[in-house]
Amino acid sequence: MNEWNREEAEKTYNILTWGEGYFDINDSGEVVVKTTEGDKPIIIKKVIEEMKAQKVALPAVIRFHDILRSQVKKINKTFRDIIDEADYRGKYCGVYPIKVNQMREVVEEIVDAGEKYDYGLEAGSKPELLAVLAYNTNYNSLTILNGYKDEDYLSLALLGTQLGRKIVIVIEKFSELKKVIALSKKFKIKPLIGLRGKMSNMGKGRWAKSTGDRAKFGLSISEMIRAVDLLEENDMKECIKLFHFHIGSQISDIRTLKAAINEGARIYTQLYKMGCELEYFDAGGGLGIDYDGSRSDSESSINYHLNEYVADIVYGLKQICNLESVPHPNIVTESGRAITAHHSLVVTDVVDKISVTQAEFDIKPQTGEHHLVANMREMIDWEMDEDNFQEIYNEAVQIKEQGLNAFNLGVITLEERARLETIFWLTVNRVMAFTKTLDHVPEYMHQLKDQIAPQYLCNFSVFQSAADHWAIDQLLPVMPLTRLNERPEESCSIADITCDSDGIIRKFINQDGISPTMAIHDLNPDERYYIGLFLTGAYQDVMGDMHNLFGRLNEVHVYADDDDPEGFYIEEIIRGNTASMVLSTMQYNPEYMAQKMKKDVSKVVTSGSMPPREGVKWVDFYEDCLTSYTYLNRNE
Ligand SMILES: *Cc1c(COP(=O)(O)O)cnc(C)c1O
Repeated sequence: MNEWNREEAEKTYNILTWGEGYFDINDSGEVVVKTTEGDKPIIIKKVIEEMKAQKVALPAVIRFHDILRSQVKKINKTFRDIIDEADYRGKYCGVYPIKVNQMREVVEEIVDAGEKYDYGLEAGSKPELLAVLAYNTNYNSLTILNGYKDEDYLSLALLGTQLGRKIVIVIEKFSELKKVIALSKKFKIKPLIGLRGKMSNMGKGRWAKSTGDRAKFGLSISEMIRAVDLLEENDMKECIKLFHFHIGSQISDIRTLKAAINEGARIYTQLYKMGCELEYFDAGGGLGIDYDGSRSDSESSINYHLNEYVADIVYGLKQICNLESVPHPNIVTESGRAITAHHSLVVTDVVDKISVTQAEFDIKPQTGEHHLVANMREMIDWEMDEDNFQEIYNEAVQIKEQGLNAFNLGVITLEERARLETIFWLTVNRVMAFTKTLDHVPEYMHQLKDQIAPQYLCNFSVFQSAADHWAIDQLLPVMPLTRLNERPEESCSIADITCDSDGIIRKFINQDGISPTMAIHDLNPDERYYIGLFLTGAYQDVMGDMHNLFGRLNEVHVYADDDDPEGFYIEEIIRGNTASMVLSTMQYNPEYMAQKMKKDVSKVVTSGSMPPREGVKWVDFYEDCLTSYTYLNRNE
């Protein structure tokens, strides 16, 4: 075995690849965050300590606002640089689709960081439009409106237009067009209109359904031509300013993008030649994230870099526009995931270790005990070597099965079964320890290792904090935040505190790919052990549900600050849901509940079976629990 050091730790959790330069491990074995705003790496454990001092309980979301800013800058700068380098005539006018993370602080930070690039916002629903109208304060940037639209939605869009915003109404289906024309006449406003194309190019991967003939959104080619005609008939042809498509989120294979850009550019130039005065080419979202750090075209990864993505759009578009003698359009993209995924992480701590192999019972021979127990005990004395360790294991499994049958037939007693199982697990642990000394371990022994790996129980809910992991099997980097200067000797899966068997993480990233277990340390009894779930800033952050009534998490907003001794400060604390808040969303009335409990307690007090002082204490305690955090209270 290699000596354990920082490089080994980095490899074990693949942190350098998925971390995109934002996350690393320091020489003291702690996970650090590096932002371009500060020179000092921020030690996540220090943030947790400060949270503790400010009474912010775990689990919690930590947002690194500098990462958000840095991602906004990165995408805008990359487009600018490549546009310059390619001698491309159009500009980059990106927008952030707020559905990816609608948190006001996130949107405000993105708008602020994007100000100097005229970076805009995108809305996909009426409530999102309400937010975008109020928060896109930069009148030079675009506001792109996607999603299905009713009259209210369209009227709000026209209000925005009257206020001087650059609002583009993207037509997702033909019937919307008639509404747009009618409202535009009613209010006497000419909106900017975009046409969304249904691309025939099917990407592969999870979101492939978003494109192709059967896609939910967009106009077919014939509808697009009819749309142009209809607008022309209504004297609104000059309103068509943008061509849009979106081939799905997390494009993992760059070839999908290349093909879509090609098809999109062809449609764009043809529309232009039909007399549409288009100015914008909107390639939608889809810029992916390398969740597993494998740089492959697997669903959780991407086989390209930002530079390549941008170059494929700029050069691809340039080439076809030049061929068709059509002016270079301004380029819009709607990247959401790539902007927000890295900026937030969920921090939780380990509450307990659930061991499969631990059985503690007195195994001394008893007079008259069943021979199966005696047979199992004999295995303890077998010398183990390379030739027989599998035989010992197989034998033990067989006796255990026979023992279970015997128990079910009433042949062995509960105590005999306890003894048998205790010896069985002792034997399995001995076999596992032995295989650690071998160079080559048979495959099924590896599987066995994963099957009997302990579960580390953590204070969080998968359904609230890793919804995509549960719902669509999204891989998320998960790793310990401290002690990474010690070799993690254990491997485990991560269980949450919901009473749902799906509340578990059994897919981890390691240097060889994906594993059902994660490398982890043995717990020290008097030390908190922190686990981080990374790259949770896109979708997960806002999609969590309240399974088991575990509510939204506490959250802290962190900024880098080189003048600070620890290199950061907490700018804002947002308290998570209390029990009474989540109960209220389910139509309970916490005040009524408290009164009801008080009445019931006073009945018992009146009857004399509880002292009045104690009664008051219990009532107060119930009320305290109502106003407290929904997760395990770990300050005991
Ligand atoms: C969801 C969505 C996006 C964002 O996609 P990402 O993959 O997160 O970048 C962009 N545009 C449209 C129309 C969308 O529906």
